[in-house]
Amino acid sequence: MQTNSLLFLYYLYSLGYDSFSYDSFSYDSPGYEIHTIPTIITHNFLNNYLWRLIIFGVENMYYITTEAHFDSAHFLKGYEGKCSNIHGHRWKIVVKIESETLKQQGQCRGMITDFSDIKNTLKGLADSLDHKLIYEKGSLKEKTIEALKEENFLMVEVDFRPTAEEFSKYFFDKMSELNFPVKSVIVYETPTNYAIYEK
Ligand SMILES: [Zn+2]
Repeated sequence: MQTNSLLFLYYLYSLGYDSFSYDSFSYDSPGYEIHTIPTIITHNFLNNYLWRLIIFGVENMYYITTEAHFDSAHFLKGYEGKCSNIHGHRWKIVVKIESETLKQQGQCRGMITDFSDIKNTLKGLADSLDHKLIYEKGSLKEKTIEALKEENFLMVEVDFRPTAEEFSKYFFDKMSELNFPVKSVIVYETPTNYAIYEK
């Protein structure tokens, strides 16, 4: 159904609904007859479902996901517990891409996007953090940073606390900037602990 038709349908519904005022409602008023079960169901349908259809103009979506991994060290400055020490994780990233439609032409016909494109892009982002110490800006003394660099340790400074939650937003933003229609990103810090950032 076209969005215009849906809007018109909702407009007609609104006219009818407004004619029944809550102010005049009482159990012994003629208006009570309006509140039959089918009417309530219809009202709920229009408010919960049709609105979404009107605003977003979609009912169903296609999704694809891909994964990448990287191994890196981090620590949480200002955290009281063992996570304040430098330690490592095998981080797993799961990116979910969405689209209302599929490509209609070319070698990607019938796809949202080529799996290899999204996989290689995500792998590139993961590789940029792999086998490095990831630290939050301002969390290490300058002389410490210099000493570590003198030892040729690979380090990445980020402007956020390097938690799974922050990494999920980091990858969501990076992939979105590269024009992938990202729905969500999951980042596993351990096999059983993960964070999700989604729109
Ligand atoms: Zn950790």
